[in-house]
Amino acid sequence: MMNELDFSKPVGDPIVEIGRQGLIVFCKKNQFTNFEELKKAVEKLFNIYVFKTSGRIGQIFSSNSKFTHNSTSNNLNERFRQSIELYETLANESKDGYCLACGKKNDLCSVNKTILPLTTGNSNVNFTSNFSNQFLVCKKCMTSLFFAPSNMQKVAGRMAFLISNNNDINKYWSEQNIQKFNINTIKQDDSLVDSKTNIFENFIYETMYYLQKKGLFGDITFYLISNVDKESDIEIIHVYENQIRFIYEVAPDFFKDELPTSSKNEWNSLIYKYSSFDSNNAYRTRTETIDGKKVIVKFQEEVVQNKNFQATMKYFNPLINSFIQSKSLLRFFVKNYSSWRLTQIYLRGIRGMREERLKVLKSIAEKLQALNEGNKDFLKKIIFPIEKTKSQGELREKLRELMKKILLKTGQPLYTVDDMVFEILPNGESWQETKDILLIALYGELTLDDELKEILENDIPNKGEDLDE
Ligand SMILES: [Zn+2]
Repeated sequence: MMNELDFSKPVGDPIVEIGRQGLIVFCKKNQFTNFEELKKAVEKLFNIYVFKTSGRIGQIFSSNSKFTHNSTSNNLNERFRQSIELYETLANESKDGYCLACGKKNDLCSVNKTILPLTTGNSNVNFTSNFSNQFLVCKKCMTSLFFAPSNMQKVAGRMAFLISNNNDINKYWSEQNIQKFNINTIKQDDSLVDSKTNIFENFIYETMYYLQKKGLFGDITFYLISNVDKESDIEIIHVYENQIRFIYEVAPDFFKDELPTSSKNEWNSLIYKYSSFDSNNAYRTRTETIDGKKVIVKFQEEVVQNKNFQATMKYFNPLINSFIQSKSLLRFFVKNYSSWRLTQIYLRGIRGMREERLKVLKSIAEKLQALNEGNKDFLKKIIFPIEKTKSQGELREKLRELMKKILLKTGQPLYTVDDMVFEILPNGESWQETKDILLIALYGELTLDDELKEILENDIPNKGEDLDE
């Protein structure tokens, strides 16, 4: 008989761990006085799985699971009875070995992976399901596994969850889920929590937004799993605390009542721009399945006309994608003539750029203003040649030319040898990044009216390249 009843310690397997955390919140305790008490909680959970979930439960439980398999029985009462029987049988086993999830020695049960909420087909070694069809886990981890679905959210037709190094984030995630899970159970809805987001990166962005709203910061790993037997992917995206802090600093509030403008909220207006328009400047659309039919939903109607700004997150957004995947955002900033302020916050906070580099690059942009005898002329003679450089060598040469011009004009150097070696083009750093930062600083010195922007678009047609990948 099972006598491990303390669920307070974390374990190393992501799905067991998310189940353990769900169990603690679902049961409102992490220790049980006896097996009967734990079994009651399991019965309550199985009751929901059998009676309060639609076919969606099949998205996390294998189709051979007792919860989902019609051949088990079409009679739900019978299905419930068999599920409990299965749980008791496992709890009564006593096999020797080490638990795959927590390493506990002996008194284990032998689990068939098809009965549990697992990623049954993937070969990722970090998941219990990687191992053979039949594997050994301890009773505690086996119990936790059953709770995993209650602590996940449906995203993009699969199931997503997160685990953070900040336990308050884990708690917040679990509490939100169990609360919704319980509410769904009462309303005759599918009890599994639905994020209503079909894009994993957007789901992550939205989650980070809610976390910073609650003052919660930490590193987080997001998982997206499915139980499809063959070639099921596990997508794993890790985001860093400084990314959440970045959102906190530049856009702690989402646009709720009106469309964001660059002057009021620069970051949100960029988010809006890339969610609403594709690279051809056409409004985005998305497809949704309503009552089994594919319907095309238009951003213009859903978000703008209906003022349903939260629905912005349902549309593909290359900026969010790059942000979540920790790719550089500088090209977006250059293309949109973003402010030096936003660029600095980004470079300092997320790229960890040294203050000294930022200072030197900014000072070059400022000093070059000595050559400004009219913005149009300045664009053509100073900025475009920098925009058009295609290699580190070309950029260096361009800077040398400008050095000469500035010396002639002001008698002062544009930069020192140390500046060049350590701050402008330091060994091992991306020259493209230097170029982008310099351009942002240069554009920041100009007041770009529509006429100048038009010149820019015409002369540098590939400016920012195609960011809509
Ligand atoms: Zn274990």
